[in-house]
Amino acid sequence: MVSTHSLGFPRIGAKRELKFALESYWKGEISKEELIAQGALLRQRHWKDQSSLNWVPVGDFAFYDQVLDMSFTLGNLPERVKDFHGDTLDNYFRVARGRSVASSDDHAQCCGGVAAGEMTKWFDTNYHYIVPEFTASTEFKLDSSRLLEQLAEAKKQGINAKPVIIGPVTYLWLGKAKDGSNKLDLLSKLLPIYGQLLEELANHGAQWTQIDEPILVTELDEDWQHAFKQAYHHLRSNKMKILLATYFGSLEDNRYLACNLPVDGLHIDAINAREEIPLILNLLPIQKVLSLGVINGRNIWKTDLNKTLDWLEPIAQKLGDKLWIAPSCSLLHSPVDLNSEQKLDKQIQNWLAFSAQKLAELEVLAKALNTGRQSVSEQLALNQSAIEARRNSLLVNNPLVKDALSKIKPKMGERESHYEVRAAKQAAILRLPKYPTTTIGSFPQTHEIRQARSQYKAGELNDADYRKAMEHEIARSINEQENLELDVLVHGEAERNDMVEYFGEQLNGYAFSQFGWVQSYGSRCVKPPILFGDISRPKAMTVDWISYAQSLTKKPMKGMLTGPVTILNWSFVRDDQPRSVSCYQLALAIRDEVLDLEKAGIKVIQIDEAALREGLPLRKSQWKHYLDWAVESFRITANGVKDETQVHTHMCYSEFNDIIEAIAQMDADVITIETSRSDMELLDVFDTFKYPNEIGPGVYDIHSPNIPTQNQMVSLMLKATERIPAERLWVNPDCGLKTRQWLEVIPALRNMVEAAKQLRAHAS
Ligand code: GLN
Ligand code: ZN
Repeated sequence: MVSTHSLGFPRIGAKRELKFALESYWKGEISKEELIAQGALLRQRHWKDQSSLNWVPVGDFAFYDQVLDMSFTLGNLPERVKDFHGDTLDNYFRVARGRSVASSDDHAQCCGGVAAGEMTKWFDTNYHYIVPEFTASTEFKLDSSRLLEQLAEAKKQGINAKPVIIGPVTYLWLGKAKDGSNKLDLLSKLLPIYGQLLEELANHGAQWTQIDEPILVTELDEDWQHAFKQAYHHLRSNKMKILLATYFGSLEDNRYLACNLPVDGLHIDAINAREEIPLILNLLPIQKVLSLGVINGRNIWKTDLNKTLDWLEPIAQKLGDKLWIAPSCSLLHSPVDLNSEQKLDKQIQNWLAFSAQKLAELEVLAKALNTGRQSVSEQLALNQSAIEARRNSLLVNNPLVKDALSKIKPKMGERESHYEVRAAKQAAILRLPKYPTTTIGSFPQTHEIRQARSQYKAGELNDADYRKAMEHEIARSINEQENLELDVLVHGEAERNDMVEYFGEQLNGYAFSQFGWVQSYGSRCVKPPILFGDISRPKAMTVDWISYAQSLTKKPMKGMLTGPVTILNWSFVRDDQPRSVSCYQLALAIRDEVLDLEKAGIKVIQIDEAALREGLPLRKSQWKHYLDWAVESFRITANGVKDETQVHTHMCYSEFNDIIEAIAQMDADVITIETSRSDMELLDVFDTFKYPNEIGPGVYDIHSPNIPTQNQMVSLMLKATERIPAERLWVNPDCGLKTRQWLEVIPALRNMVEAAKQLRAHAS
């Protein structure tokens, strides 16, 4: 008999109950007991939703982050919170969110303020975890209470519980050695704690523990590979069975290692590592369980069940009860329940599966494997018809788009002339001073803006009135920018709720869910739009707004667009064609918008690629392929314009060391980047790589309410001149200003413009 299990379930709740409970607790609106009760309720509900599985995950619930939970389980708290007098949950939130001295909690005075733990992306997902902190003298101490309590809760509910923890090697890998020491030196101190934990879980009735070691899908050097052998030889025991879980990619160089560690089972992501499965079947010792992740845990499409059974049946025959099946990874990365959706097009809804539906698919697969396809013939037929409807749908397939794609020529990505020639022509038209000033696009999203948008969505405001309200905001932002004497203006993006959704809503091929939330960090969720079909642009999307803005000023107005790679990386994308194909389709649609802006007389156009870097694959060996199509997509989007039109791009995260050549190939005339927090250190790469075009290194950290002084910004810019010729420098903030308030933005930008003036005076 084939068994079923899942690696983890979304904890946020179908209606984001956890988010609202957390935020109410932080505001002091509900008590700790109420928060804890809400957590227990969600666990109970989610276990019930998963009760058809043979093994149900326990320990995947976290109030903020599962990595932070692990740090608390291992007693690895940052030094700065160790002397906290309050209770553990509050201290946990202190690490997660930081606490200012002025905060109103009971312990603000005695225990002082603390900085939040650093946050970073969980592999190539959009989930962010709190980075564990280490020093050479870190000591660990087990606190198994959370896991044991949840295990007891699950048992009481009659659940066949399988505790889930992050493995010791991945835990060290995820963390940061604050003193520059070698994290791996801590492994021998860490292993006894893990040993103790497994022992306690076994004593409380757990038979299997799932230990997540996703770093096995990344390139590991010998020391890290060796750490795996050391760890799992230490942890082998006859009391507890270990299922070693990998996901998000294939094992490749780590395949032999992973198959031969002394554990009882191995989980493989059979969506991302499909080709590797025959090799693993050959390598894996016969007494071990092989768990195959056969349902995509990170996307929202129905699984083709018949097709999956075609390749799975022979494996099931061979492995018998040694085969387990599961989603590819934790369902943390999927929305909760499709049945909550009221407004999706019914055809499209029928092609989708969120977490609850994925588990139902898993059940059908298991039944088909265990008792024959005929025992689930009805479900298989329904699935088949949904798969075929999607494949053949006119909503998905647009021959015109396919035709346009086949006509893409490299030439479309090339500017007419070299940068120097263009720069001279642009200078003659734009007549900008040295160190020109600009902003990244958005201005504060005020209460009035949000109110007007929600009234418009609710039908309380008609088109004309909404338009008037937005034009009022645009006029306001232009007025402010003129008063500030900025050089290249922006319209302020008042009409945009979100830089991807705004375009998705106007493109054919996109759908939007109401409750398709996925946790991003803590209580924060995102609702990625669903790219389901061939992309086309029925009409211009931004030209009216930008032209209106330009009509109010003589200064150059920067047309503002989101680039294809960013739109792609922040959406749920099609699984029926390569990502690159969807990206090229987006590129063609945005290219038309660029050309329409140019035709409307807009002389500067910015195409944001905020998420280009975060799309890099987990393995470096795959970077080139990604960068090739990502850069080409940008070039197709941007480079159809005349020499005279100045193209800007913006990227949020500027650690460019290893991709700077690709960035240069994009050939934007100007790139603005985030640099202020790093004190311009992120510009070090420009010491060795001579970036050919213009750069605006951000001098105003928009993530902070602080108002930078003129001197601070001058000195940042002077640092920039050490690496980049002054003629090619721009002065601008790190990113868009939508999350700030006008109250902060005006003095900060005033200082920024004064800084630019001082630099000009200094230079002449
Ligand atoms: N133009 C966008 C803005 O200003 C860019 C946002 C981003 O880079 N994340 O908001
Ligand atoms: Zn940005």
